[in-house]
Amino acid sequence: MKRHIPLETLQFATRCVHGGVYKDPLYNSVVTPIYPSSTFYFEGPRQTSGYDYTRTKNPTRDALEENLASLEGGAGATAVATGMAAITTTLHLLPAGAHVIAGNDIYGGTYRLFANVLPARGLRFTLVDMGDPEAVTAAIEPDTAMIWIETPSNPLLRLTDIAAVCALARERGILSCSDNTFLSPYLQRPLELGADLVVHSTTKYLNGHSDVVGGAIVSATPEMAAKVAATANALGTTCSPFDAWLVLRGVKTLPLRMQAHEKNATALAQFLDAHPRVEHVYYPGLPTHPQHALARSQQRGFGAMLSFDLKGGEEAVFRLVERLKLYAFAESLGGVESLIEHPASMSHAAMSPEAQAAAGIGPGLVRVSVGIEDSRDLVADMAQALPD
Ligand SMILES: *Cc1c(COP(=O)(O)O)cnc(C)c1O
Repeated sequence: MKRHIPLETLQFATRCVHGGVYKDPLYNSVVTPIYPSSTFYFEGPRQTSGYDYTRTKNPTRDALEENLASLEGGAGATAVATGMAAITTTLHLLPAGAHVIAGNDIYGGTYRLFANVLPARGLRFTLVDMGDPEAVTAAIEPDTAMIWIETPSNPLLRLTDIAAVCALARERGILSCSDNTFLSPYLQRPLELGADLVVHSTTKYLNGHSDVVGGAIVSATPEMAAKVAATANALGTTCSPFDAWLVLRGVKTLPLRMQAHEKNATALAQFLDAHPRVEHVYYPGLPTHPQHALARSQQRGFGAMLSFDLKGGEEAVFRLVERLKLYAFAESLGGVESLIEHPASMSHAAMSPEAQAAAGIGPGLVRVSVGIEDSRDLVADMAQALPD
C-alpha cells in the first residue's frame, strides 16, 4: 500500500493530483479504478464493505468527493449528475415555505428552476442586485432560509462580496450557498470567506474538457455534508461512477488550465476593450471593471469568462459568430476550447425580455468562454471577424 500523506498538509496543485487517488491496494493502480457495480454484496447480516448500493455510495464517486472537498476546504462533498442536480439538491435542504434571496443575473438554468419549478414546491424567491449588500439586507424576511450567491455572475461578471453577504446571513441564522462554477476553487474558495455551502457545475472548469456533465455540493461542516449526502441519495441525484472518474481525471490539471485560460482571457479582454465596434467589455481583470478591487481581494485571479456589448445589436452578433473560425458558437463554458454565445437567445433565453432588460442583458451582448489555445490565434480570429 502506498504511504499516505494527509491531503490537508499538501499544497493546492498537489491535492488536485493526489486527492482521491491510490485507492487500489489489490493491484497498485496509479489511477483510481472505476467501480461500475450497482450493488455490493454483504459479508453477512448487517456486514458491508462500506458500500451497499451505488446511488447511496460508490468508491469512485467517493474518490472524487474526497478530492473536491479538499480543494474547496470543506468537510465533505457530494458529487451529483449535473450542476442543476447540485442546485436542486441544495434547495431541497430547505423547509416548506422557505424564502430565498438570489441575484437578478444568475445562471439561466438556476433562474428557470427558481422561477418555474420550485415555487410550485412552496419556495419563494426574491431576486436582487447582489452587488449591493444593502439590497440583500432589505430583502430579508422572517422566513428567509438561504442566500444564493453566484460570483462572478453570468453573463455580466458582476461580483458579490462573499464575506459581507455571508456575514449578514450568518448573523440571522440564514444559510449561504455560493455557486463557484465560474472560477473553480483554484481562484476562489467561498467556504473560507464564510459560506456554508458551495455548488459546482463540474461540467465546466473542474472537468475542463467538455466531455461530461456533472455537479458537486461541498459543505463547510460534517453535519451539513451528511445532510446533503442523505438528500442526494433520497432524491436520486448522485452521479454515475464513470462520470465521477472523468471529472477526477480532469481536475488533476485544474491549476495549469486555469493559468492558461486567464492569460488568454486577459489578452482578449484588452484587445476587445480597444476595439471601436465594442461598446463595453465585462471582465473583472480590467482595471476599469467597477469591482476590480473586490476581485483582487476575494479571488486569486480573474478567470476566463468575459462578455462584451457589440455595437449593432443582435444582427451584429450573428454576423460575428458566422465569421469566427476558432470559437465554437455554443453554450457552456470552462472547457479547453473557446466558445462564444449570445445570452439573449441561448443561455438566458429562459428569462423574459423584461427580466433580461432588468438584468442588463441586451441584444448585442456576447459571452466568451476563453479556452487554452494560443492567445495570438484567439485575438487574430476575433480581429478578422469583427468589422472595422
Ligand atoms: C452550467 C452552470 C450551471 C448548471 O450546470 P449543468 O452542469 O449544466 O447542470 C450552474 N451554474 C453555473 C454558474 C453554470 O455555469
